[in-house]
Amino acid sequence: FDAITKTEEKEGTVDLSEYKNIWVYAEQRKGKIMNVALELIGEGRRLSREISDEAKVCALIVGNNVEALAKECFEYGADSVYMIEDPLLENYTTDGYTKVIVDAVKEHKPEIVIYGATHIGRDLAPRVAARLNTGLTADCTRLDIKVSSYMDYAIKNTTLDVSTLDPNSDDKGLKQTRPAFGGNLMATIICPKTRPQMSTVRPGVMQKRERQAGATGELIKVKPAIAKSDIKIEILDIVKSAKEIVSLTDAEIICSGGRGLGDSSGFELIKKFADKVGGVVGSSRAAVDAGWIDHSHQVGQTGTTVKPKIYFACGISGAIQHLAGMQTSDIIVAINKDPDAPIFEVADYGIVGDLYKVIPQIIEQWDNA
Ligand code: FAD
Repeated sequence: FDAITKTEEKEGTVDLSEYKNIWVYAEQRKGKIMNVALELIGEGRRLSREISDEAKVCALIVGNNVEALAKECFEYGADSVYMIEDPLLENYTTDGYTKVIVDAVKEHKPEIVIYGATHIGRDLAPRVAARLNTGLTADCTRLDIKVSSYMDYAIKNTTLDVSTLDPNSDDKGLKQTRPAFGGNLMATIICPKTRPQMSTVRPGVMQKRERQAGATGELIKVKPAIAKSDIKIEILDIVKSAKEIVSLTDAEIICSGGRGLGDSSGFELIKKFADKVGGVVGSSRAAVDAGWIDHSHQVGQTGTTVKPKIYFACGISGAIQHLAGMQTSDIIVAINKDPDAPIFEVADYGIVGDLYKVIPQIIEQWDNA
C-alpha cells in the first residue's frame, strides 16, 4: 500500500474509468493454446458478468503465425482476441513478450489482466506489472469482484494514506485469493486504485467453459513495435526435458501415492493401478522428498493443482498442503490404514486398509466393475 500511495503522489491518481474489459493472456507453445488459458477465459466470463453488462473478455495471443488460435479462444468464450504477431515473437522471450504486452496494455487499457501460473506466466507477469507500475498477486486460487468502498479501505488498511482516496467513489476491485504461510491460511488481496489489476492463477483451478463450436468474435490485430535489439537473448534450440512428461492437469483419473507406500518400489504398484484405470501417477511431497518419484508428479501447494474426475489417494495422510492441490476433484477415493487420517474428511469414498492388499483387489475387480 505504501508503494501505491507513492505512485499516486508521483503520477497523479489513476482515472479508473479509462480502464475496461478483462484480458486473459492466452499462452501458446508451438501453436497450441495452454489449457490454463482456456480455463481463465471461462473464469473471465464469470467475472465480467459481475463487473457490468458491457465488460468483455479478451484473449491476448502473442507469437508468430498464430491467427488460427483465435478460433479456439472464441469457442471457449472470448468476446475479442487481441493478436500480436511478429517473426521476432516466434519463441517466448522475456524481453520481447514483456515489451509488446506492456505497449498493448498502455494503448488499450484493460481493467484486469490474468495469466496462468505456468513457468512462462510466472516469468512474464511480474515484469509486465513492474513496467506498468501496478500490482500483481501471484498463484491465485480464487478471483472475485468486490465493490470496495472508501470506508472499507480506511478501516482495513490502517497503513494506507486515506487522503489519497476519493470518499465518493466505489472501486469495483478484483479480490484475489491465494494460499499463504505454507497454505495454513488463505490471503485475500486487493490492489486499490491501480490499473490494470493483475494476477497469475494456478492451472486446474478454474472451470473451462463448454466449447461452443463455430462461435466467433472480434479479432483485433495489434502491430507490435519490436526490433531485434529489444531482445537480449537469442534462442538457438528448444530441447524437451528427457524425463517422463506427466500431464496431471489434463488427466481425468489420477492415482497418487504417498509415504504410506514405504519405498520407491511402491510406485510400481501405483503405475500398474493407473494403467489399469486409464489414469496418470501423482504423488505427495513426502514421496518426492524421499526421492521415490520426480517432482513433476507432485500434487499440492508446491506441486500441481489438479481437478480430475477421480482422484485416488493411496497412503497419503491428507495434509493441508496436499489437499490444497486436489480437494476440488470431482470424486476422491482414499485408501489408508489409519481410520483417523484427515484425508477421509475430504474423501467421497474411504477404504481403511493396507494399500498393498486393497489396490491389487481393485485392479483385479476393475474390469468386472
Ligand atoms: P504422511 O503424512 O506420512 O502420511 C502417510 C500416510 O500413509 C499415513 O496416513 C499412514 O496412515 C498411511 N499408510 C502408511 N502405510 C500404509 C499402508 N500400507 N496402506 C495404507 N496406508 C498407509 N505435501 C504435498 O503432498 N504436496 C505439496 O505440494 C506440499 N507442499 C508443501 C509446502 C509447504 C510449505 C510445506 C510446509 C509442506 C508441504 N507439503 C506438501 C508437505 C505436507 O505437509 C505433508 O508433509 C505431506 O503431504 C505428507 O505426505 P504423505 O501424506 O505422503 O505422508
